[in-house]
Amino acid sequence: MDGQKQSPSVVIVGAGWAGLGAAYHLAQQGYDVTLLEAGSYPGGLVAGWQTEQGRSVEAGIHGFWYPYRNIFGLTDALGLQPFTPYTCSNQYSPHGLEVESPLFQLQPYLPSPLGTFLYTEFKRLPLSDRLSALPLLYSLVDFDNSDEAWRRYDRLSARELFRQFGVSERLYKEAFEPMLLVGLFAPGEQCSAAATLGMLYYFILAHQPDFDVRWCRGTVGAQIFRPWTQAIEQAGGRILANHRVTGVIEGEGDRLTAVVCGDEVFEADAVIFAVGITGLKKIVASSPALRQRPEFRDVQNLGAVDVLATRLWFDRKIDVPLPSNACFGFHQTTGWTFFDLNALHDEYRDEPGSVIEVDYYHANQFLSLSDAEILPLVQADLAGCLPAFGAAHIVDYSMIRLPQAVSHFAPGSYRYLLPGQTSFSNVFMSGDWIVTRHGSWSQEKAYVTGLEAANAAIAQCGVGAAATIIPIVPDEPHIQAARQINRLGRALLGAIVH
Ligand SMILES: Cc1cc2nc3c(=O)[nH]c(=O)nc-3n(C[C@H](O)[C@H](O)[C@H](O)COP(=O)(O)OP(=O)(O)OC[C@H]3O[C@@H](n4cnc5c(N)ncnc54)[C@H](O)[C@@H]3O)c2cc1C
Repeated sequence: MDGQKQSPSVVIVGAGWAGLGAAYHLAQQGYDVTLLEAGSYPGGLVAGWQTEQGRSVEAGIHGFWYPYRNIFGLTDALGLQPFTPYTCSNQYSPHGLEVESPLFQLQPYLPSPLGTFLYTEFKRLPLSDRLSALPLLYSLVDFDNSDEAWRRYDRLSARELFRQFGVSERLYKEAFEPMLLVGLFAPGEQCSAAATLGMLYYFILAHQPDFDVRWCRGTVGAQIFRPWTQAIEQAGGRILANHRVTGVIEGEGDRLTAVVCGDEVFEADAVIFAVGITGLKKIVASSPALRQRPEFRDVQNLGAVDVLATRLWFDRKIDVPLPSNACFGFHQTTGWTFFDLNALHDEYRDEPGSVIEVDYYHANQFLSLSDAEILPLVQADLAGCLPAFGAAHIVDYSMIRLPQAVSHFAPGSYRYLLPGQTSFSNVFMSGDWIVTRHGSWSQEKAYVTGLEAANAAIAQCGVGAAATIIPIVPDEPHIQAARQINRLGRALLGAIVH
């Protein structure tokens, strides 16, 4: 660090949850923060904007699950009230309504995972199929989010895991695979078993209310990111949109000294990457300093998944029983969700017709279609759940294609995921695909890893106080006991084998 300078400078690349999280904390600590964002708006995968007609759209609807304690802490600290109440959700297949999920926090509390099994209302799935999940409980106890557990389970696909533990074909197809398609954005044979166990435990099984979810009362961009970016700028941070980072400059002693953005060079005492997998692959490919390092070079082995976000304005109000709905069985390897925005978004409450968001995950086959080709497919899918959609007319729509957008936790990918600390002493990673022991997923994980990267930069520069990161609620006592016994058993077995 230059002795003349008042405050250390940090350049953060990418303005999603991770980059904004790092920028806000460092700006509050008096750092000279520059946040470089390739897109026109901050927000990353959660960015929202207005159409030419002044209608709000965004890159897919984002749920905020009960355990998102750090994000909820942030919105409280910013004095925002962006969220709807927690909502129940439905699950549909081409056969009709399949599952109703209640608000678990309102049900009598049962030791995990009993509440999830007993209170979820399956309309068709026989009890014998549901009971075939019981042996899987062992793997949930065995997978404790440690490096060792990730390595052990990451070699397997989710499909193989469920088969090995005797989960019935019907339970897999009608319960687990739909969860994978909306939780990890890929079908079971393409998901790491380690990521599957981590995701299922965090969102569904660790504590009874964990599956409860709420939404923003408008776009996340308007409700959270706009006031948050203002707070970052008030704290002295600079957010530069339309700035795509193309390279880095290496100094002596395993350090980067600057980040390059076309013709502009931004000097830095520390650098935080907060870009997704696809973004980082491009930066590495164009940066000799990064691609010479195996850890960065190996990122090219990772992948990302295509997503399609559509918003439809109908000429009439359709009765949609619940605001959030997940669907399976309509496409072989594509999951989709639909949301009643008249119920969720203040802006659309009084619209004369239904405003429905329909998001497709692992949507590879749709992205090359024209809007005119996609619209009837979307309408037919909606009508497959609620027939009244078949007769309605679409009067306006938005169609956002997100190629290679969301992190793909493929079998065998763990070894290539980057940890927060890189082999450069002043370069830190963040984002929803980074290795962290926090245990959270998706938006909460992105935000948490942003704070972790800010804390690593603070430790490196020696200025300011670390951000407080709220840990996930500890395992329930019976799970802790089961994990301890299991670890003991594994240690004993290891000793005998050697
Ligand atoms: C349709 C959809 C639905 C989802 N649903 C949910 C949900 O319900 N709940 C949930 O918690 N999560 C959900 N997610 C996942 C969630 O969006 C992500 O986990 C989270 O937004 C990741 O944040 P991030 O900061 O890690 O990365 P990103 O949001 O990807 O941000 C990275 C940023 O880096 C920028 N960038 C890339 N390359 C460069 C470069 N060279 N120079 C400068 N900037 C660059 C990008 O433009 C982007 O703004 C969903 C995602 C999608 C797409």
